[in-house]
Amino acid sequence: MASINQHRKFERNGGNPNPDGRYVLYWMQINRRLHYNYALEYAVGWANKLDKPLLIYEAVRADYPWASERTHHFLLEGMAEHQQELARRKVTYYPYLEDEPGHGKGLMKLLGSKAAIVISDEYPAYIMPQHNAAFERQSSVPFITIDSNGILPLNLTEKAPTSAFSYRKIVQKQFVKCYSEPPQADPLAGLKHSTPAVIPTSALQKWPHAGWRLQDLQKFVGRLPVNHDIGKIEMEGTRKAALERMHTFVHEELHRYGEDRNHPDEDKTSKLSPWLHFGKISSHEIVEEVFSLMPANWSPDQLEDHQGKRRGFFNADESTEGFLDELITWRETGFHFCHHREDYDQYESLPDWAKQTLNDHLSDERPYIYSYEELAQAQTHDEIWNAAQNQLRQEGRIHNYLRMLWGKKVLEWTPDPQTALEYLIDLNNWYAIDGRDPNSYSGIFWIFGRFDRAWGPERPIFGKIRYMTSKSAQSKVRLKKYLGRYNSPLFGSQ
Ligand SMILES: Cc1cc2nc3c(=O)[nH]c(=O)nc-3n(C[C@H](O)[C@H](O)[C@H](O)COP(=O)(O)OP(=O)(O)OC[C@H]3O[C@@H](n4cnc5c(N)ncnc54)[C@H](O)[C@@H]3O)c2cc1C
Repeated sequence: MASINQHRKFERNGGNPNPDGRYVLYWMQINRRLHYNYALEYAVGWANKLDKPLLIYEAVRADYPWASERTHHFLLEGMAEHQQELARRKVTYYPYLEDEPGHGKGLMKLLGSKAAIVISDEYPAYIMPQHNAAFERQSSVPFITIDSNGILPLNLTEKAPTSAFSYRKIVQKQFVKCYSEPPQADPLAGLKHSTPAVIPTSALQKWPHAGWRLQDLQKFVGRLPVNHDIGKIEMEGTRKAALERMHTFVHEELHRYGEDRNHPDEDKTSKLSPWLHFGKISSHEIVEEVFSLMPANWSPDQLEDHQGKRRGFFNADESTEGFLDELITWRETGFHFCHHREDYDQYESLPDWAKQTLNDHLSDERPYIYSYEELAQAQTHDEIWNAAQNQLRQEGRIHNYLRMLWGKKVLEWTPDPQTALEYLIDLNNWYAIDGRDPNSYSGIFWIFGRFDRAWGPERPIFGKIRYMTSKSAQSKVRLKKYLGRYNSPLFGSQ
């Protein structure tokens, strides 16, 4: 029987590996981890087959969209960790950090021209599709991208999901098959060729190895042309930090997820999205960790199709079912949508009913109108909204429940839905450490009706789009401590 993982492979150009190539090149772009990574595993497989050394290349541009100190630090902390681990394991690592926009141009072409074959990450959003398409055009050796994003391979679906329900039905049919072909925990352990790869001197002369820069991140990042108003956060961009968070969550907090996840005062969600976004941790290993808590007579092989129903598929308690539904169904709905829809970030991609109802209410009077700057600085009349925005500015995240309210209010307080969308994309992608992800677009477009249905009664501005108010949030969820904390002078702008 064919492997389900064949759906993870994207052969971008034909041809055979170059027998004279000096190494197999793994270009690590977004799934920035050395463990549970199908792409790295595939590159190791080719290195073994061709009996060539492996070169791992990881870079950061100076001018990626929404570039800030915050994202730069997070990325570079992860690279410093890779540098240490790969030195210890004697695998050649070439970290490159652009110091001025455009300086890195030509480096991938040069590295690729000396390779036998190039492997990289398949990813359906942000700048990766363009990066991969550009390299595909210029590569003279086979270029293959591997999808290591989720439990179900992107190519398993035939079209963009229209709702979490429709995607959940596919998950329930395919989960057992996909979960039974996991990525290897430590793919580098299987690397046979022991001689290190030699990085071309012509590359190192023009594009210096970033090793020394990774020793003093503050100094290097401080000089870059990135947004310095959006500063470093406490969360560290390392795999070590991701694993610590996962263990604490799964073993100490998961049992309260069902009950407490919507209460900002409790803040009992996993907080794993930043590390998931940068690929520091894989959803496979999180699911594996959650399954380690299941009773001895439980096995994933027993799971049966559940016709898309939200609860009961995993035969687990409410907290576990709820968490796995977010991590698998909700997270991957966004990935599969972006994979099938190049216009995933465009207003036009909204369902027709949503565009129609928003259009019907275009001339409704807006009770408040705020500029982008007022929103960014958390200067609205609404203390809940300001607290959420203050948390986002300072910590790079917003509590999950309040993130929905935060988005809905921007739709209400801007002149038209297109402006609201533009502001939300910018606010989210500048400040949120998990921003620029397929789920940034799931969450933001959900505000305008994507993956949702029409609701009644029809309301001003929103029409049939689901409506949320700060007043009902105040009565439904516990947030007194949250408001005290994020509207205090320490966090707030007032
Ligand atoms: C306006 C708006 C913007 C958003 N922007 C982003 C974003 O930039 N990046 C991002 O990863 N998520 C985004 N989300 C989705 C969701 O808010 C976050 O994934 C979640 O809050 C992350 O916190 P957590 O890791 O503690 O989640 P948990 O509740 O612990 O869930 C575990 C994982 O499941 C996934 N997940 C959870 N909820 C959702 C959801 N509603 N949709 C999709 N995946 C989900 C995430 O990968 C998350 O890490 C947005 C939602 C809204 C309403």
